[in-house]
Amino acid sequence: MKIYDDRLLDFAHRHAVEFLSALPERHVGARATRDELLGALSLPLSEGGEEPQAVLEALASQAERGAVGSAGPRYFGFVIGGSLPVTVGADWMTTTWDQNPGIFVTSPLSSVAEEVASRWILELLHLPKEGSVGFVTGCQMANYTCLAAARNAVLRKAGWNVEEDGLPGAPRVNVVVSAEAHVTIHTSLRMLGFGTRSMIEVPTDEQGRMIASELARVVENLSGPTIICAQAGNVNSGAFDPLRRIAEIARDREAWLHIDGAFGLWAAASADRRHLVDGAELADSWATDAHKWLNVPYDCGLAITRHPASHRAAMSVKAEYIEHTAGAERDPFEYTPEFSRRARGIPVYAALRTLGRRGVEQLVDRCCAHARRFAELLSGQPGVEVLNDVVLNQVLVRFGGDDATTREVITRVQRDGTCWLGGTTWHGIAAMRISVSNWATTEEDVTRSAAAILRLS
Ligand SMILES: *Cc1c(COP(=O)(O)O)cnc(C)c1O
Repeated sequence: MKIYDDRLLDFAHRHAVEFLSALPERHVGARATRDELLGALSLPLSEGGEEPQAVLEALASQAERGAVGSAGPRYFGFVIGGSLPVTVGADWMTTTWDQNPGIFVTSPLSSVAEEVASRWILELLHLPKEGSVGFVTGCQMANYTCLAAARNAVLRKAGWNVEEDGLPGAPRVNVVVSAEAHVTIHTSLRMLGFGTRSMIEVPTDEQGRMIASELARVVENLSGPTIICAQAGNVNSGAFDPLRRIAEIARDREAWLHIDGAFGLWAAASADRRHLVDGAELADSWATDAHKWLNVPYDCGLAITRHPASHRAAMSVKAEYIEHTAGAERDPFEYTPEFSRRARGIPVYAALRTLGRRGVEQLVDRCCAHARRFAELLSGQPGVEVLNDVVLNQVLVRFGGDDATTREVITRVQRDGTCWLGGTTWHGIAAMRISVSNWATTEEDVTRSAAAILRLS
């Protein structure tokens, strides 16, 4: 018996190829409204179901207007990243295989692909080779996973076993964060039982970097278990905290140092930019994304620690029915909050094997060069001001010297569709935020996008 209809998969394949070939020239943003999409998709749940191909056709017919062209070369919103063609292929195969990478026996292929990809990632990012890597949904869960390991480890050192006794009655943990920590640091800490009010914020400078002398002052007055959260790559400016200095302060204080490097940690893969993450290798844990700058499809984040035993203790349990492997085999669920999940190590393996060290370096360098080109083309034009030092792939731009004009320009650019970028509030003022993190973006895309922005400003 044939369990799949070839025509159905052919349809999906044809649609994918058509979507991808139209991507570079389509209106970059989505255009469909909620009502329009509801009109097309919202039906009563039927009794008898429909033909599968009709269902795929209905979805595909909405992709042009209802999906965002974020995989395309002129999408510069948030920090999204594209998908390398090989990772789209690997992701299709992953879906086809429908593997559950929870334990070695449920998918030896996924387990080994993760094991190898982990080793490559640690090498590429210049992190300790004995470190542990968990393949989570994104940097939110990477921050969560690392900080769970941190919380339990600092409390264990203080004589408290969180895994067995929970948090009630535990010693207080000092949690020190940058005043410009990404919002997912806050949500992670909340999920871990630390209220927002209990976080101690360290002031930042004009580029959004944590001020190391302020950190030193803050920790001087603290006693007991302490976690410090630093940042490699400010989500607005792309700036890096002074990581070596912060690591020294953390070491003197015997604090756990965590670094949120969702995209910025990839600077380590570039010889020209490695100095930005100098000292990052001294931290205890690192959160980053593969779906941003490594350009694998959503979703994939990486939770990395220097302390595999703490990492595993925080995330895993023993259960009678789990056939834990006794040998060298990796049980991936020991490193992630998820039990069953997507085999997201496979596209990461495919990306790294295809690019090699030089390919990753070129991807990072090319995006940074494009960001600098954006800054050159935009700054110096009347009424246009670049607000940040463009050290990485992020550019902040202000128009007409005021918030209203800046927001108006952003809206016009989004409506125009040549490119897409979003807005932010940077140190109290409105700014356009340009993030270049897609392998497909060319210099011509940058020139064309900058021209559109200037035309609409
Ligand atoms: C994007 C980002 C996150 C969150 O990552 P997700 O993959 O969206 O969960 C965390 N920190 C920084 C600095 C980011 O840029």
